[in-house]
Amino acid sequence: MNKISFKIGLLFFISIFLLESISMFFLHNNILHSRVHDELSALQTRGNNHREILEASFHEETIKHIALMESRTDTQVILTNPNGAIYMSSNKVTSEMKRIIKSSPKKIPHEGLILEEDWQHEEYIASISPIQINGKINGYIYMFQKTQKVKELISGLNHHFILAGVMSLIFMFIIIIFLTRFVTHPVIQMSEATKRISKGDFSVSLPTLAKDEIGELGESINILASELELLKNERNEFLASISHELRTPLTYIKGYAEIARRPDTKHDDRENYLSIIFEEAEKLSILVKELFNLAKMDENNFSIEKETILLAPYFQGIYEKISPAFNEINMELVLNCSNNIYAEIDPIRFEQVILNLLDNARKYSEPFTEVAIDVIENAGEVSIKVKDQGKGIPEEDLPRIFERFYRVDKSRTRALGGSGLGLSIVKQLVEAHGGTLQVTSTTEIGTVFEIILKGWTR
Ligand code: ADP
Repeated sequence: MNKISFKIGLLFFISIFLLESISMFFLHNNILHSRVHDELSALQTRGNNHREILEASFHEETIKHIALMESRTDTQVILTNPNGAIYMSSNKVTSEMKRIIKSSPKKIPHEGLILEEDWQHEEYIASISPIQINGKINGYIYMFQKTQKVKELISGLNHHFILAGVMSLIFMFIIIIFLTRFVTHPVIQMSEATKRISKGDFSVSLPTLAKDEIGELGESINILASELELLKNERNEFLASISHELRTPLTYIKGYAEIARRPDTKHDDRENYLSIIFEEAEKLSILVKELFNLAKMDENNFSIEKETILLAPYFQGIYEKISPAFNEINMELVLNCSNNIYAEIDPIRFEQVILNLLDNARKYSEPFTEVAIDVIENAGEVSIKVKDQGKGIPEEDLPRIFERFYRVDKSRTRALGGSGLGLSIVKQLVEAHGGTLQVTSTTEIGTVFEIILKGWTR
């Protein structure tokens, strides 16, 4: 038996045992008292009956009848005169009886008295009833009954109680075993499941239980296991992609360094190889920087510090920073943003978002095309669109472009210096701002990235 079942079982047992003992004790006491009381009052009533008969006819004949009647029962009657001298007895008078008769009080009410009620220690219980004829005491009726009979009665009662107690203990035991099994079984299953999860086995599936807290806990563990499994797979894929991404530039670097250091390499060629090595190293450092960004975001220990920003001057700043790069390859960057739109953003992180989108728009477009930033506000929301007239993204690739290391045209984008991480960082940053990022694209026509954030005009 496991610890929890034992603990719950013991707790159940102790509480029910206490409850049962207390109620049994009170019940036993009550029954006992009422039984003893019944015996005592029956004895007194019997005495009173004899007295009534004698009060109606106090004759030798009647007295004999009473003595005869009592001699056949387990009670004993004794008739005394007013001074306490014994006149008649149905059976033999014992010294104990004499002692009780002697010690009886002087004044006795007409309805009689119980003289001895200590059934536990004395030999007899006894009662007295005075015979009164014409207002004068004519004698006393004493009734005796052996306490043995009461004792037997009580011991019978005790036997019943013990039997009932033992039976209910056995029942209680069986019920508790089933109950604790029922209550603790799911908990034990869950504990085993979490142990397996902690050892890296995510294939747990707990049975669906009732719709209570324990059921919900089981459900949460199931969800946890499947999410952990997903996470583990994702991490493995991610690591595989990283090592692949790092390997390609490293192979170039190693290969060209190898040739460059040969003594017979011509000076011009060496220059050429060295600049390739430099470019590849540059790409590597960008990749590492982006990976570091992602890692920080994954750990959630990067913070978004939002400020209220007037968007027109903010985008103008970005525009001025990046438009020379567009002009250099004969492209045009256009900014459309009216001068009264505000939003709550982290200026540095959000600039990273916009620069990334603009950089993509530039990379994947041809010369003499236009890229536009359109900012509009509508019903408490700001829409920021980055539109290009570039090569577009095929429909089948659209759902996957936000994945890490996903690139549409692997060889071409690599040549353009893309790592495949940019959009996944953009998406995470936008979501950290509480916004959404969407994309629409038509091949050879262009692509539109739209960010929607909370915002307002003033
Ligand atoms: P990369 O560093 O390769 O640009 P991103 O995550 O930024 O990585 O983008 C993922 C892929 O989505 C890119 O490789 C490219 O194929 C495609 N892509 C992104 N932006 C555009 C765009 N404006 N036009 C066409 N294709 C795009």
